[in-house]
Amino acid sequence: MEASGSVLIRGGVVVPMTAPGTFLEADVLVKDGFVCAIGHGLKEDGARLLDARNALVLPGFVQAHVHVVQSLARHRAEGLPLLRWLAERIWPYEAALSPQEVTAAARLGIAELLAGGTTAALDMGTTHDQDLVFEAAKGLGIRLSSGKCHMDIGEGVPPRLLEDRDASLAEAEALGSRWHGSCGNRLRYAIAPRFVLSCSSELLAGAVDLARRNGYLLHTHASENTDETRAVREITGMGNVAALAQAGLAGPDVVLAHCVHLDEAEVSLLARQGTGVAHCPGANLKLGSGIADLPRLLAAGVRVGLGADGPPCNNRLSIFHEMALAGTIHNLAHGVGAVAPWTVLEMATWRGAGLLGLDRVGRLEPGWKADVVVLSLSGWAMEPVADPATVIVYGGGVESVRHVIVDGRVVVSGGELATADGIVIRREARAAAAAVSRRLRWE
Ligand SMILES: [Zn+2]
Repeated sequence: MEASGSVLIRGGVVVPMTAPGTFLEADVLVKDGFVCAIGHGLKEDGARLLDARNALVLPGFVQAHVHVVQSLARHRAEGLPLLRWLAERIWPYEAALSPQEVTAAARLGIAELLAGGTTAALDMGTTHDQDLVFEAAKGLGIRLSSGKCHMDIGEGVPPRLLEDRDASLAEAEALGSRWHGSCGNRLRYAIAPRFVLSCSSELLAGAVDLARRNGYLLHTHASENTDETRAVREITGMGNVAALAQAGLAGPDVVLAHCVHLDEAEVSLLARQGTGVAHCPGANLKLGSGIADLPRLLAAGVRVGLGADGPPCNNRLSIFHEMALAGTIHNLAHGVGAVAPWTVLEMATWRGAGLLGLDRVGRLEPGWKADVVVLSLSGWAMEPVADPATVIVYGGGVESVRHVIVDGRVVVSGGELATADGIVIRREARAAAAAVSRRLRWE
C-alpha cells in the first residue's frame, strides 16, 4: 500500500458489485489504500475531493490476460491466423526488442489500461527484460501480476527467444524474489510458459514446481486455435486443457487464456479443478480463432474473467470492448440474453480479481482495497441512464473514464494519466515502434 492521505469521491452512483442490480447514490471515502466508508454526506478533513456527479463509481476493472510488452507491434501484425501471426510477426518483434523498447512498450500498454479504467491485470511478458515491465508498473501505479515468458522448443522461434530450460526457470525465480509482493503487494509474480507448443514437458514441470513452491500464479495460453489444438494432440495424444492438467497446470492458481476449442471432458475438468479461464473475445475474433463458449463454461461452473490479450491481436486494451463483445457474441449460438450484463460486469471486476488471486479486490465495500473507477455518464451512448450494467456493458467506452484510483492512489484524474506525462509516453512509444519496425524491415 503506497497511498498517502485520503480521497473522498463525492456525489456519484456507487455500483459496489456486491450483488447484481445493486447500486446507490453515495460518497466513497478512501483511506490508507482501503475503502473506508460508503454513505451519504461523508466528510473528511484534508481529503482530496474527486467529483463523481453525473457518474458511476465502480471497483476498478480487472483484465485476466494481456501482453503490455507487445504494444509497439499494435497495428503492425494484421491479417494473420495465430501460428503465422506468432512466427512471422510477434516472435521476431519480441526477439528484436531492446531494453528501452521493452520499457516504451510496457509504459504504453499500462498507460492505456489505466486510462481505460483497468486497475489490475494479469500480464505475460517476453523472455527477456521482465524487470523493466515491473519497473513500468511500479511507476505508473497499476496492480500487475506478470511474469517472463518461457519457451524452450518450437518451430520458427528466433534464437533469442529459444531458451535454455534451467536458465529460464532460474531467471523467473530471481524475478519472483525481486518483485513478488513488492509495492505493498501491488506487484505479483506469475509463472508464464507461453503455450504447450513452446514448452518441453520438462520446462512445464519445472514451471509448475517453481510456481507451487513460491505461491505464484501460473498463466498460459490454451486451445486458442484449431491448428494449435491439432498440433498439441499430435504431440501429447490429448486435448490442450487435458494435456496441461496432466502437466500440473490445473487448479485455482492457474489462469488459461482463450479455451476456445474444448471437448466436454475438458470443460468439466476446468470446473472440477477450479482452473481459471480468461475469455478474450476481441483477440479471438481478430485472429479468426473462434468463439469460446462462455455460456457453457459459466453453466458448468468454470471461473471466467475477461482479457484483451495483446495490442497486436485486438488492437486495443479496452475492457469495454471485451465487455460489449462478451455481452453480445454469444447470442449467435445461444439466443439473445445469453450472458447477462451483470454477469459480464462481474467478470470484469470481482470474478477477474478472483482469477488473479487478489485479496479484497473487485468490489467496493469497507475494508476492501481502494481500486476504484469513476465513469462519467456524459457520453452520448450512456443516455438515457438506466440499469448501470446495461449502460456500461453496451454503452460504455474508455472515453467515459473520469478518475481512477489504485491502492488508494489517484492514477487518472479528469481523464488524464496522473502518474506520468502521457505525451512523453506516446512520443517514446512512437519512436521505439519506428525503430523496431525499421530493424525488422516492416513496411
Ligand atoms: Zn495472449
